[in-house]
Amino acid sequence: MNLAKINERVSAARKETEARGETFYPGPSRVHLAAFPPKERWDDWVELESKAWPRREERRYMLVPTTCFNCESACGLLAYVDKESLRVQKFEGNPEHPGSRGRNCAKGPATLNQITDPDRILHPLKRAGARGEGKWVQVGWDEVLDDLASRIRKAITEERHNEVMYHVGRPGEDGFTERVLAAWGVDGHNSHTNICSSSSRAGYQFWMGLDRPSPDHANAKVILLISAHLESGHYFNPHAQRVIEAKAAGAKLIVFDTRLSNTATHADHWLAPYPGSEAAIVLSMANYLIQNELYNREFVRRWWNWEEYMAVERPEEETNFENFELALKELYAGYTFEYAAAESGVDARTIEEVARIVSTAGTRFSSHNWRSAASGN
Ligand code: SF4
Repeated sequence: MNLAKINERVSAARKETEARGETFYPGPSRVHLAAFPPKERWDDWVELESKAWPRREERRYMLVPTTCFNCESACGLLAYVDKESLRVQKFEGNPEHPGSRGRNCAKGPATLNQITDPDRILHPLKRAGARGEGKWVQVGWDEVLDDLASRIRKAITEERHNEVMYHVGRPGEDGFTERVLAAWGVDGHNSHTNICSSSSRAGYQFWMGLDRPSPDHANAKVILLISAHLESGHYFNPHAQRVIEAKAAGAKLIVFDTRLSNTATHADHWLAPYPGSEAAIVLSMANYLIQNELYNREFVRRWWNWEEYMAVERPEEETNFENFELALKELYAGYTFEYAAAESGVDARTIEEVARIVSTAGTRFSSHNWRSAASGN
């Protein structure tokens, strides 16, 4: 069958789907096959059992929206739950999820392996021997909760708050635990994040009080990634989709990465600075924007605490925006392209070229900094 014939049949299928009042999710192929079942039929979706071929054996599924947590992107998934056995048969992307939009990395559908993993721990276990002996007994949730709660309570009532510490592999909630611990007067909260991405999170948190930004990559004209963010980093999958969309629409992509990562291979400008020297390049770019007055003055005037800065740092000068701009020029003057080149090993002319591109973005500049040199990307 030639392509035109296939197109004709698929277009007819689309019309039929829409005529029934159902949602058609177009796939990426040239013949526009539907990529997902219409949401109107997720309660009762029929697929043929592949192992029964050539017999046409139907299996009925409920498609249950859920969330992937194999990384912090938390993409949407659809669990195909067999209506007879109530077992999850497979996971696919959820086209209705606003972040991932049905597109997942390979780890999403692989969630099935975790559900069926024979070593999965399904009950609380309590140590039954010495540490390292590997001896455990199964206990009930009531016993665990009573045991732990009474120990925590005792520590708190005896003013030993510092002896309580909460550790979680990956915090999957938006600050609830933090509030509970604060209510207890406990500040011992740890997670793997403290090592893996603390370098970027700390900067974001100090600067804007939020450690997980989602800039508007999709509408950006210039995108600066200080990390291998198309393949890793926070919210990387939802971000990567939008970075590539912007690039397809003509955006310039600048990547700082010591390695020729998959992200670097997509860059219009790839800079490989010495690990840990990225800040020197960024400072020189900021200096270029400041000295040439290429930044958004009204934005700075409205949103920055420049009055407080002047009052504390330059009490001898009159507090006005013009004086603040002069102070900025003085403050940044040493961060020349030559300084950045000496620190980073990247040629000064390359840094200047990239700074010029950034200066053309206007308000359509987006950036993301993740672990960078602190953790391999
Ligand atoms: S990017 Fe992959 S692993 Fe991370 S949440 Fe999405 S599907 Fe899961």
